[in-house]
Amino acid sequence: MNPLTQALESGFASMAPELQGIYEDLHRHPELSMQEHRTARIAADYIERLGYAVTRGVGVTGVVGVLRNGDGPTVMLRGDMDALPMDEDTGLAYSSEVAGVAHSCGHDLHVAWLAGAARVLSEAREAWQGTLLVVFQPGEETAEGASAMVADWEGAGLPRPDVILAQHVMVGPAGTVTYRPGVILSAGDSLQVRLFGRGSHGSQPQTAIDPVVMAASTVLRLQTIVSRETSPLDSAVLTVGALQAGTKENIIPDEATIKLNMRTYDDAVREHMLEAVKRICSAECDASGATRPPEFTTLSRYPLTDNDHDATARVAVAFHAQFDDAASEGKPAAASEDFSVFGRSWNVPYVFWFVGGTDPQTYAEAVRAGTLDAIPSNHSPRFAPVLEKTLETGLQAMLSAASAWLCIPGSGARQDPA
Ligand SMILES: [Zn+2]
Ligand SMILES: [Zn+2]
Repeated sequence: MNPLTQALESGFASMAPELQGIYEDLHRHPELSMQEHRTARIAADYIERLGYAVTRGVGVTGVVGVLRNGDGPTVMLRGDMDALPMDEDTGLAYSSEVAGVAHSCGHDLHVAWLAGAARVLSEAREAWQGTLLVVFQPGEETAEGASAMVADWEGAGLPRPDVILAQHVMVGPAGTVTYRPGVILSAGDSLQVRLFGRGSHGSQPQTAIDPVVMAASTVLRLQTIVSRETSPLDSAVLTVGALQAGTKENIIPDEATIKLNMRTYDDAVREHMLEAVKRICSAECDASGATRPPEFTTLSRYPLTDNDHDATARVAVAFHAQFDDAASEGKPAAASEDFSVFGRSWNVPYVFWFVGGTDPQTYAEAVRAGTLDAIPSNHSPRFAPVLEKTLETGLQAMLSAASAWLCIPGSGARQDPA
């Protein structure tokens, strides 16, 4: 245990009802990406009362709290705030009261964790030294929020951190944490491609440039990027999830639209695939004699989450000291986050990890029965982390990780008296 989790242990019983209250309130009142006005106000008011210097409206609805506590490293803790455009089906007493919007990714828990960590750090100032940045980020689900905050950062006069830390609740036994040096989340890229032909009567193809055939051929050839251009030792996926053209069987339309999504685990593979998508689409248009080149639009872009090795090693030591065997190294997940935008933009090391949110008994039974896939995961309408244990573990994890920078020997901060 470190001085920060020690402070948590003595205060958790008195803090838990307040944090559960915040969590349940946010869960009842979810807000969509970049519209988290109420959530941001609750978070900002809370840390302002704790003595943080608070800047609101950083990246539309983002909130940054700064707590200066002597010489030492600047540590940034980040939690995202947005909910998803979907209905909830958990049957919980504190289910969403907003039709078509639900906290099915657990970002309400992330806000509660961050608020709780901010409280412990403000109350136990004798236990650490440095500067703390508490960052409530909007718009993770649309990959807009981190970039929007970075764009406003300098203008708001905010300091840059030395390290950036964040965590996500996932399926896994409550009480456990999973970290990974290097890549932990895939990069995700979504593109729209418009292919231009020349419309005509279905009976006179010689007068047309058929965008339906052009699109069909393009979709097939795009599948060769993973199967023929990517090493079998690299993982990647490319899915064309939408293909639209035409209105009626005897009209050759003017154009076709393709929407595709890619996931990659290596920046070089990602760049090669993006280049290959453009090359193949352009060449297929040329092959058809298209009237003009294809038009590419980026629908969303999530960079690779590639944890810094040295910083992750420090976090891992702190986790094992706190959790023993309940902390373990995991595999990369096929999900994406915009969290790394902060570290990439500023060239600052970052660490992202997972906290289990499933009832441990339910999880163990599912392992025995081989039904792990049936446990509702993030983005399921039935996703419902068990509250108290997950809340406590997330707080312990965030404070342990922060202690690896804020409570280092020789920094002047008090060391673990045990
Ligand atoms: Zn999500
Ligand atoms: Zn999420």
